[in-house]
Amino acid sequence: MSEYVKNLIAEVKAKHPAQPEFHQAVEEVAESLSLVLEKHPEYRTSKILERIIEPERVLMFRVPWVDDQGEVNVNIGYRIEMNSAIGPYKGGLRFHPSVNLGILKFLAFEQVFKNSLTTLPMGGGKGGSDFDPKGKSDLKIMRFCQAFMSELFRHIGPNTDVPAGDIGVGGREIGYLFGQYKKLKNEFTGVLTGKGLNWGGSLIRPEATGYGAVYFAEEMLGTREKTLEGKTCLVSGSGNVAQYTIEKINQLGGKAVTLSDSNGYIYDEEGIDEEKLKFVMEIKNVRRGRIKEYSDQYKSAVYSEIDSSMNHNPLWNHKADCAFPSATQNEINAVDAQNLVNNGVYVVSEGANMPTTIEGIKILQENNVLYGPGKAANAGGVAVSGLEMIQNEMRMPWSREEVDNKLRNIMKSIHKTCVDTAERFGHPGDYVIGANIGGFLKVADAMMDQGVV
Ligand code: NAP
Repeated sequence: MSEYVKNLIAEVKAKHPAQPEFHQAVEEVAESLSLVLEKHPEYRTSKILERIIEPERVLMFRVPWVDDQGEVNVNIGYRIEMNSAIGPYKGGLRFHPSVNLGILKFLAFEQVFKNSLTTLPMGGGKGGSDFDPKGKSDLKIMRFCQAFMSELFRHIGPNTDVPAGDIGVGGREIGYLFGQYKKLKNEFTGVLTGKGLNWGGSLIRPEATGYGAVYFAEEMLGTREKTLEGKTCLVSGSGNVAQYTIEKINQLGGKAVTLSDSNGYIYDEEGIDEEKLKFVMEIKNVRRGRIKEYSDQYKSAVYSEIDSSMNHNPLWNHKADCAFPSATQNEINAVDAQNLVNNGVYVVSEGANMPTTIEGIKILQENNVLYGPGKAANAGGVAVSGLEMIQNEMRMPWSREEVDNKLRNIMKSIHKTCVDTAERFGHPGDYVIGANIGGFLKVADAMMDQGVV
């Protein structure tokens, strides 16, 4: 690591203490960027990286709301408007009790590079709340979403900032948020993506992140003249990304054997086929239950509770070829990464954002694993959000095949950018360097063109 990057990271840590996830994301990117900053001193003199690290704007607001029993609740709302050099701020909203400023800053920072890689004109942002939707009635969710949007609506717009879903924010929440925005602004615009199909949504948007992560894995496998056909896959999470990752794995002839939530995980040696996946969607999207119910229904599955005293996650300790972490950040540590390698896994395609620790990434790369970092592998979601924005502008929807083909081509193009960039900078096959530098260059050049703003 160069002195310049070392000093930069030290400064970020000193300026923004208690934001470990943000430090981790900056460190991983800055290390790769050393190579570009050496070749292009103009980026250093213009302090491009220093400016990318600092959000253009951070909004933090009170979200007071009244529940079904008449009790007053207070949550914190956030929107990080990170970078608008190449387009309006774009990125999801996360509702989860673990949400804080540092986590949203890491997500917004990653989003800048990811959105740039998609080839579409989107800046980076992220937001959310420490609100916990788990176990809450639809009425409570609606009241919270309305209260949240009652402040957020002032700061967003189809040409300013276009939020979408993330953990805890799916179709139901986007509906309530959109309804409140429309009421307050008295206008029908594509201000959010992930909308319902009959009110401006795009076909394939729900599927896009999971499908995209699998397409990316196929591209990586292609570099070794392999495909997903017949491959055993470990998948974590059981939400939006995990569900559609499994759907696409099945369509391409692979076999997914695990799923999880924050209570535990299931291992089904026989594979989670189409019928079982339907059951998972019913548990998670309709009844909003726990993944444990899967093992009550299917005797081929074994359920294990999460044991937080363990130094590793046993989900990653099964024989397999591919892994698709699709739950949350830092779910693969160094021990997990070593377990993956020991169990024969040679492809990791990240559906989640930053699911692997820096030490974990090193182990995967040292062992020649095809490692696709989240900012490249899970960019399919935001890419189709970008396509939703285009369809909204035209007021004309595209067919399922059209959107899916565009998604497939975007994932191919992101893969190519990663491979070509890594090679150009002397690290062939290193997708981390390829994604970080590939995403950075477009944003950096736009910032250079636009002056110090
Ligand atoms: P989701 O539908 O809310 O599902 C999240 C899943 O992960 C749930 O099974 C959840 O279990 C589990 N999970 C969440 N936090 C956890 C924790 N701290 N420990 C263990 N399990 C946890 O969210 P999603 O949209 O699938 O997002 C999953 C990941 O993909 C996130 O990292 C997100 O940032 C990333 N991502 C999503 C999109 C998108 O389009 N949705 C796009 C790009 C990246 P519980 O139900 O028990 O909480």
